[in-house]
Amino acid sequence: MVRPVKWRKICQMPISSGFRPLSDDLIPKDIVKMAVDEYETVRLIDFEGLKQEECAKRMNVARTTVQSIYYDARKKIAESLVQNKILVIEGGNYELCDGRSLLCDHKYCMLKNTNENNSKEIRKLEYQVKSVT
Ligand SMILES: [Zn+2]
Repeated sequence: MVRPVKWRKICQMPISSGFRPLSDDLIPKDIVKMAVDEYETVRLIDFEGLKQEECAKRMNVARTTVQSIYYDARKKIAESLVQNKILVIEGGNYELCDGRSLLCDHKYCMLKNTNENNSKEIRKLEYQVKSVT
């Protein structure tokens, strides 16, 4: 029996869909692909300063899952920095937080903040979520 996919809740999509090295002499050919849920663990743990346990609650997954996603994410960042590779952030198993979760502090919650401002943006976000899943 196939286990149903448990969507990982994320509050914010990355602003940029990727990063590339600045060096002109070395044109990077290799690409490292990071999933949006991996990016979210870096955002929550390294940027917001959450513990893995808190990050797991926010993303609605087990702590061991967060530990493994976070490890992969860090490894990819290191690979990009050390080996001069383009980092692309796309895809993954996630759903955008609707801003109603009690576990979310809504500080960086994209959909919640968008909801209050502009309904066109919501439709755009929903379209983006559908197209990457
Ligand atoms: Zn949220």
